[in-house]
Amino acid sequence: MNYAAGVQCVAKCSNKKPKPGELAYRKGHILTIVETSVRKGYYKARHNTTGEEGLINANNVREREALRVDPSLSLMPWFHGKISGPEAVIKLHPPEDGLFLVRESIRHPGDYVLCVSFSGEVFHYRVIYQDNKLTIDYKQYFYNLIDMIEFYSKNNDSIVTTLTKPKKKQGTKSAEVELSKTGWLLDITKLTLGENIGEGEFGAVYRGEYMGQKVAVKIIKCDVTAQAFLQETAVMTKLQHKNLVRLLGVILNKGLHIVTELMNKGNLGNFLRTRGRSIINSAQLLRFALGVCEGMEYLESKKLVHRDLAARNVLVSDDSEAKVSDFGLTKVDSKESDKAKLPIKWTAPEALMKEKFSTKSDVWSYGVLLWEIFSYGRQPYPKMSLKEVKEQVEAGYRMEAPEDCPADVYSLMRLCWEQEPRRRPGFPRLREKLEQEMAKRSPRPEAAHRGEITSGSRS
Ligand code: ADP
Repeated sequence: MNYAAGVQCVAKCSNKKPKPGELAYRKGHILTIVETSVRKGYYKARHNTTGEEGLINANNVREREALRVDPSLSLMPWFHGKISGPEAVIKLHPPEDGLFLVRESIRHPGDYVLCVSFSGEVFHYRVIYQDNKLTIDYKQYFYNLIDMIEFYSKNNDSIVTTLTKPKKKQGTKSAEVELSKTGWLLDITKLTLGENIGEGEFGAVYRGEYMGQKVAVKIIKCDVTAQAFLQETAVMTKLQHKNLVRLLGVILNKGLHIVTELMNKGNLGNFLRTRGRSIINSAQLLRFALGVCEGMEYLESKKLVHRDLAARNVLVSDDSEAKVSDFGLTKVDSKESDKAKLPIKWTAPEALMKEKFSTKSDVWSYGVLLWEIFSYGRQPYPKMSLKEVKEQVEAGYRMEAPEDCPADVYSLMRLCWEQEPRRRPGFPRLREKLEQEMAKRSPRPEAAHRGEITSGSRS
């Protein structure tokens, strides 16, 4: 098995007495491949906990396991929803000091109750929800239940005993345990948080450093949203491709921290708008288009449908590689969806009307993304309302070519916007066409302007 640089592996056995130049590790430790061609049968790797680098024997590691996308995976396995006090008492039987659960208060809607077993009795603490915060004693305040449970697992200031054992709701699996077993749980003490670099719909994104590696950290504070993002994270654990934003792991602390590789040049839409034609040449536009296409081809090979492909969800790395991100709507199956959330200007007609999502509906969105790329980040269907777009596209209207867009690239957009999904090309075909388009240009990529864009061949 050959692993590429950046791949995270689990040690199959220990190397407690490393020879000079070798890395010390124990069975189960997570190691990141740094370089592949240092010595035959060896990789240079970095230890995810100690941060040390050294050689490892290729036979001693296996690729880190993906987390199963499993709706029963829960960040709050101790949360039992709306059950009564007496029901909670039954659930906390047989008694055990520190055994606990959280339920929704029936008498005070919006509030919660923390139920703890101690000395053969069950104690019920009302958790008051006030000004977007939670409190039991009006002294300690928490943003969410996860935080609160974490705090009372270490302190027993206002409660009878520290929380030691969650009473799991039937049918749930602890996300923390699963993340830790599969090696995706990172250590908060190794993370240094930097400045805020973006605001998503559900959480802020920060620059950071995790054991010497530059990272981006999305922090999701709301319990329910964090739970929803867990599925996105599980999808990401399966994916390793140079054109998909790579997940490094998650941290469970004050909500959910999703740690990914840092994409220093931000999202593609902003990148193109803020630089424009004078800085970015058409060869670079093609490279972006091809990069996204390769990422999508890989996603297609994994039978995953993205559902929200758009320039705002493509990020640009330091070396100007475009990578697809935001797998929030990504689903293995293509049935259920939340209609209200669909990005109308990017969504294929059959997906909008009949909720038929497929790789071919991703291809439609890819066509819109191509339009965004070649118009340097303009809003698609300029000056048209969402209602107009929906009606007119259904009636056969298609966007015109962006200014100075190569005719062959516009033809590709039109193919992506075939009404009939079957008639749209797949991503492998689109990639071939884009490669031909690249080859037609000068054998050497056009020189970068003002040193903004790295020239040279794509790696
Ligand atoms: P949304 O919730 O709108 O889908 P995100 O929360 O994923 O958006 O990201 C919001 C913004 O934060 C992005 O548009 C981008 O500018 C920045 N961002 C997100 N992830 C990264 C990353 N890995 N590296 C650099 N910037 C990022």
